[in-house]
Amino acid sequence: MKIFIEKEALSYALSQEIVKNFNYQVIESYESFDWGLRPYPDLVSQGKGLLFVMKFKGKFFRKCPGTKNYFCCGYKIFHFAEGCPLDCSYCILQCYFNRPGIKLWANVFEDGFKELKEVLLSAKAEKRILRIGTGEFADSMALEKFCGVSEKLVEFWKEVNPFAVLELKTKVYVNEDYFKRLPSDPRIIFAWSVNPEEISKKEEHKAPSVFKRLESAELALKYGFTVAFHFDPIVYYPQAKENYPALLEHILKRFPHEKIAWISLGTLRYPPELKEIAEKRFPQTKIYSFEFVKGLDGKKRYFIDLRNELYKSLAKVIKDLGKDVTFYFCMERKRSWQEVLGKSVNSSEDVAGLLDRVAENLCTYGITNVHLQ
Ligand code: SF4
Repeated sequence: MKIFIEKEALSYALSQEIVKNFNYQVIESYESFDWGLRPYPDLVSQGKGLLFVMKFKGKFFRKCPGTKNYFCCGYKIFHFAEGCPLDCSYCILQCYFNRPGIKLWANVFEDGFKELKEVLLSAKAEKRILRIGTGEFADSMALEKFCGVSEKLVEFWKEVNPFAVLELKTKVYVNEDYFKRLPSDPRIIFAWSVNPEEISKKEEHKAPSVFKRLESAELALKYGFTVAFHFDPIVYYPQAKENYPALLEHILKRFPHEKIAWISLGTLRYPPELKEIAEKRFPQTKIYSFEFVKGLDGKKRYFIDLRNELYKSLAKVIKDLGKDVTFYFCMERKRSWQEVLGKSVNSSEDVAGLLDRVAENLCTYGITNVHLQ
């Protein structure tokens, strides 16, 4: 990884740690960086090996953008970085910003943590539960060796003692030494995105196998944290209806349910412009050659019947083994909730309420399913 630090970002704590531990080059600004004359998909590939440490001038704390016309979960984001060194063929970040390269916000500890503390304290004073994550525009753990933001956040949670859970969403393997040095806290949810090996091997480039990810999840539990799993995106392929349920069954048998915060389900969806970029970057991928329909939010997704078929293949496992675990859909509507989970969920507020109850249990009792029926 080549590291560039913007001149105006050099004095911040995060930059100073990088200066001590890595080779780097100081540049005038990200905007003036010379990318050469290349088509955009090539810039995305080139950008995977370039890390820019820069001052962030926007809001660190924000609402998850969600999507129009589908139910969202009301999650809040602590925005510490943009981009990811892993390279999934379905990754929406390939077309999200039109700004290649991985960007870390140098002023995250000085300005970001200050902003976050104010938000956490005011929510606590109002007895308002918060669910916060860092993995919306970046993988929460993949940049950890450069920035240590997740480690600092876990320590910050102990210090501020908020009425809030923090979800660190990742695909990477996190080793025992890392967990060992953190203060244990059930409000911290280490969450892994999972896919059967067939998809993971072909589409999640540079990511460790799903079994390595699950090993990390066991370590997270061993050191006093909560875990979560995201079946997202669920990708259709001929064995999908056998392999996804088998993976879910494995997870439900392997992990204690009171320590699983939630499991999300969401089939592949993407903005139309992603297809061209991804197919140029990954000529072998077949995931975009299926039939898609334009959804109510403008994103391409499988027809509802296929989406429900995929979800229903999981329903039996959920019914038999996962009744005491909170499942939710990321960006679906009433019908999927009713038909697959047997739940009457009519709005984003209903989804948020469901997850807030789990978060409250974690903050109050340290386990997830105290009040689950
Ligand atoms: S791990 Fe997540 S953020 Fe990173 S490339 Fe894959 S989908 Fe994108």
